[in-house]
Amino acid sequence: MGARSILDDVRRRCCWIFDLDGTLTHPVLDFEAIRRELGVPGHAPILEHLATLPADEASPLLARLDDIETAACAQATARPGAAALLDALLGRGCRVGIVSRNRLASVRRTLAATGLAVHFRTPDLVGRDEAIPKPDPAGLQLLLAAWGATPGDAVMVGDFVHDLDAGRAAGVATLYVDWERTARWSARADLTLESFEQLMTDV
Ligand SMILES: [Mg+2]
Repeated sequence: MGARSILDDVRRRCCWIFDLDGTLTHPVLDFEAIRRELGVPGHAPILEHLATLPADEASPLLARLDDIETAACAQATARPGAAALLDALLGRGCRVGIVSRNRLASVRRTLAATGLAVHFRTPDLVGRDEAIPKPDPAGLQLLLAAWGATPGDAVMVGDFVHDLDAGRAAGVATLYVDWERTARWSARADLTLESFEQLMTDV
């Protein structure tokens, strides 16, 4: 399928699941700095690394991670076009939800700080304690089940490989928002966009 027909297919779908940090908002979490501070080696995923540690070692590090996430929420700002896209989707009766590797409390704080909270119902927000975190598809499957939807109805929108791998594992269409135009994860997505406006034009 060409990019044009994939875009047409994606636009017809009515269940939209978004990553939050870096996708709907400008990224505020500096993962390299967090890895350094928490002693996570190399490029290892932070949550998965902490899960390998004994509880007495992991617990203060998880508490520190919570503090870092909480502090970051207040600085979050929405990406250009995010509110307009969510308005348009809700306007045509779509479901919208978020699956994040952050805690639900941080997701809610970030949405409040960015003005995007009005677009989401609380049950449609999934943090790392509500389901096994991405790249596991559990969070996406949780929303699809709650919505009575099938993977063919849904789109996963994200800026990182975990989002796209979770989407593919759940069998939904995957949309990579490549804000920096690096094409880094394009091969893992059905469609790569550089702005939300590209979804809005020619509808
Ligand atoms: Mg992200």
